[in-house]
Amino acid sequence: SIPLSFFGGIGGASKNGILIKGSNYLEALNNVDTVVFDKTGTLTKGVFNVAQITAAGGWSQDDLLFYAAHAEGYSNHPIALSIQKAYGQEIDTRKLSEHEELSGLGIRVKVDGKTVLAGNSKLLDAENIPCQKEDTSGTVVYLAVDGVFAGTIVISDEIKPDSKQAIKDLRSIGVRSLVMLTGDSKTVGEKIAGEIGLDAVYADLLPHQKVEQLENLEKEKPAKGKLVFVGDGVNDAPVLARSDIGIAMGGLGSDAAIEAADVVLMTDEPSKLVSAIRIAHKTRGIVW
Ligand code: ADP
Ligand code: MG
Repeated sequence: SIPLSFFGGIGGASKNGILIKGSNYLEALNNVDTVVFDKTGTLTKGVFNVAQITAAGGWSQDDLLFYAAHAEGYSNHPIALSIQKAYGQEIDTRKLSEHEELSGLGIRVKVDGKTVLAGNSKLLDAENIPCQKEDTSGTVVYLAVDGVFAGTIVISDEIKPDSKQAIKDLRSIGVRSLVMLTGDSKTVGEKIAGEIGLDAVYADLLPHQKVEQLENLEKEKPAKGKLVFVGDGVNDAPVLARSDIGIAMGGLGSDAAIEAADVVLMTDEPSKLVSAIRIAHKTRGIVW
């Protein structure tokens, strides 16, 4: 026979689109102290729209969009998909060579024999390419062609409809600290964190710096409280693996993230974390 706890516990969770990979994680969800979120695709939809194109270095806006879309031609980062969509034409991959994706920074690729960089300001800084820094509430993609700054594309994402309520509910069921880690700028990170009511935001982080920050948060919390990380999976596998309970968004998430996660939220809604903790509370005390 199937034990009663199955329906209230892991089985009940799975009926709600929450995949818990072991009873130890359900147990751990009873003592969540800190929840750390990734931004893009986790608290925001991860679907960007192009808001503004500013060309420089003698290029036109059309040229800029051509180079950006081709540079992003092989990437499936949410930023890349939005630029491909705005370009709206077929990407001719015969024009591309020496493609390189630089995690947390952007892309380097040869388009028609010209070296194109598309990414954040750190990417251009690393190549010693001077550029006009922009400070907007949108995410800024900086472009360079053959080592010269070529302009920017500003894109904007939207907060998921349930993010704010999820944060409020997590607090009301006893989570002490709610934090965001992002590779995006401080301006963008702080705007979103403020709108949904997080306690802290750490921005401009490279993937290895996200791990370091997670380890700092781990030290700050009470010993018996658990630390949860929730991410959409793009570049998140190291932090997912390092947290007490690693949670991946299953819809947008990469296979690597789903593999590395302890819990998978099939519907990509932050409110499902609230449901998971409530299910854990209900099943507390039942012997496994
Ligand atoms: P987040 O922490 O918001 O989930 P990522 O770690 O995936 O973001 O990326 C961090 C930053 O690196 C992005 O905000 C962007 O500036 C830059 N970046 C990453 N991948 C790309 C790409 N394919 N094209 C342009 N910029 C990128
Ligand atoms: Mg991400």
